[in-house]
Amino acid sequence: MRTFRIAVALAAVVSAAAAHADATQVRLIPPTGARFLPGQKFDIRVEGKASATSPSYSATLKLDGRPVAFTSGSSDPVNTDGISAAGFGGFNIRGFSIEKQGKHTLTATFGDGTGAPVTVSSEIEVAKVGHGQGVKNVIIFLGDGMGAAHRTAARIISKGVTAGDPDGWLAMEQMPGLGLLSTHSLNSVVTDSAPGMACYTTGNHAQNGQEGVFPAQVKNFFYAPRVEYLGHYLHRTRGTALGIVTTADIEDATPAANAVFTGDRNLGTGICDQYLDESDASDTLRFGSGLRVLMGGGRRWFLPATNTFSSRAAASDYDRLPADLLAGWQLPAKAAGAVDTGRDLISDFQSAGFAYASDKSTLDAQVAAEPSRLLGLFAYGNMNVALDKISARRFRAGNATASDTVVQDHHAPDQPMLDEMTKAALHVLKHERRGFVLMVEGAHIDKQSHQMDAERAIGDVIEFDKAIGVGLEFAKHDGETLVLVTADHECSGFSLIGALTGGVAGLRALPSDATVLDPAAVPARQSVVGTYDAAGFPAYSIQPDGYPASYDVDGKLLVGFGANGDRFENWLTPAKPSRESLTPTALATELASKGYASNTPITRPEKANGFFVRGQAVGRAQAVHTATDVPISAYARNPFAWLPFVGVHRNTDVFFKIADVIGTDGN
Ligand SMILES: [Zn+2]
Repeated sequence: MRTFRIAVALAAVVSAAAAHADATQVRLIPPTGARFLPGQKFDIRVEGKASATSPSYSATLKLDGRPVAFTSGSSDPVNTDGISAAGFGGFNIRGFSIEKQGKHTLTATFGDGTGAPVTVSSEIEVAKVGHGQGVKNVIIFLGDGMGAAHRTAARIISKGVTAGDPDGWLAMEQMPGLGLLSTHSLNSVVTDSAPGMACYTTGNHAQNGQEGVFPAQVKNFFYAPRVEYLGHYLHRTRGTALGIVTTADIEDATPAANAVFTGDRNLGTGICDQYLDESDASDTLRFGSGLRVLMGGGRRWFLPATNTFSSRAAASDYDRLPADLLAGWQLPAKAAGAVDTGRDLISDFQSAGFAYASDKSTLDAQVAAEPSRLLGLFAYGNMNVALDKISARRFRAGNATASDTVVQDHHAPDQPMLDEMTKAALHVLKHERRGFVLMVEGAHIDKQSHQMDAERAIGDVIEFDKAIGVGLEFAKHDGETLVLVTADHECSGFSLIGALTGGVAGLRALPSDATVLDPAAVPARQSVVGTYDAAGFPAYSIQPDGYPASYDVDGKLLVGFGANGDRFENWLTPAKPSRESLTPTALATELASKGYASNTPITRPEKANGFFVRGQAVGRAQAVHTATDVPISAYARNPFAWLPFVGVHRNTDVFFKIADVIGTDGN
């Protein structure tokens, strides 16, 4: 319904432009359907492309029929205002907000000096917020790419099944509230992680690849029109703190979509700078996220460009934000940003009062010293997955069949598990008497589903669930904490097709299927897939650390990928993970020389004796995201705080439900 309304609005714009032929692609931001909390800040922008060779741009704006003045754009109407992309003219109002609840109409005109101006409008809404349900803290567990089947796989493997009954439940399955969410973005039924996370933290849809902003033709992606994040809104109005914990590179879309405003999710230098520059480290409560805990991978963005494993570059940074943006969002001059590839961002975090941990041992030591702020960067790019981290721990504990090669090869031998990071984050944030918002991401559920590495994806669901267990224990004790578990989207069309027949030894002894392409010839590895009755009940040996001793057991669970890319399938766990895309160039080169496959699964050497599976999406080397709804689980001590999440909802509804259970007159 919402998508339909947007489509109609866009159609109206196009026909108006064609009728006047003076300014094409006129756009009014926020678009129809945008929703805000009372007082939540957002930018307004009217923009269009010139049809004339020497355009003279002009624009007007009315809110509910009353004129509103722009804060930038009108001073240099000839070509561009320094914010707009070449050929475009744009007029902005920065840091706008509306207190009055209900529907509002924005009406704008835009001209380029030829013919009559084009008129456009959008219908936006300011939501009602209740008095709260005793919630002060919010923990959002975001299992990137985690659909219902990912949850089921982790339960079957880690808990087992007997005579038709699960032998136990995951922590996330023991939460009382359960609902479903749509996952669409502003411009597609299939989202990526940037709008997928940002819809929960802004209440609005973003375009794919964008976070904390509405789409716009701007000169630099960091100049795009903003919409205030949950963390920023609560920090400004209540003084809450923000924590971000992920197993991904910290520049990645999901963590950034809690605190960083950018029209391009790949601009790591500017993204990581903004985490600190707009954190309001000195607690003015006038602006910023209130970021107090930041943990994950991505050290490459925090090291000066001269460091071998640095990825800092001018092309992924931003220079001074527009003056009216600084003014509208009350940002101090030193938060404006600069192209500074030589910045030592770790040192700058430390100067702002953050304790810094580079591995598990220093994390333990820093947490024991009771810091009020904590930065943890445990890898140069993405952290390693649970399967490889656990193997290294078992190796160090004396298990000769385990190996620490993978973490050593990534120059990160001592990485914490996600549950340990969550515990550390809560240890710091629990002292925030005005409350906190903590986002914890299980990032590799998605990344390994893209790679169609079933075992590494499932291992990370188990790790993610352990982190959820830590969050639930905190919330049950605390009594004022809402815990949500959901995903931004499903990845790979993950499906549990059956289980292995004939045993692993038999599987290993089969001749190669690599050359079997004739549909009439059944590959040997296709014949070992036991479906229905033949699947039985896969049984794994779970170690005291909570993870299977091996994923390659007789009768192992077999996973199909409905949204697959081209690959060979041999049903065995690859010895090494693929190279991650979020890796500094020098490290990626090293890993390639050590035999790590590229992140194009078809090239994976360990699978090359398997049978060829043709992906459905042409030119897609990896599995892709799907448009399937995702589950959301909710817990709070007060049932009226988790009940709103039961049922089927729009993804953007989550933001308003969180605000509603925190309420306007809470703690
Ligand atoms: Zn993904």
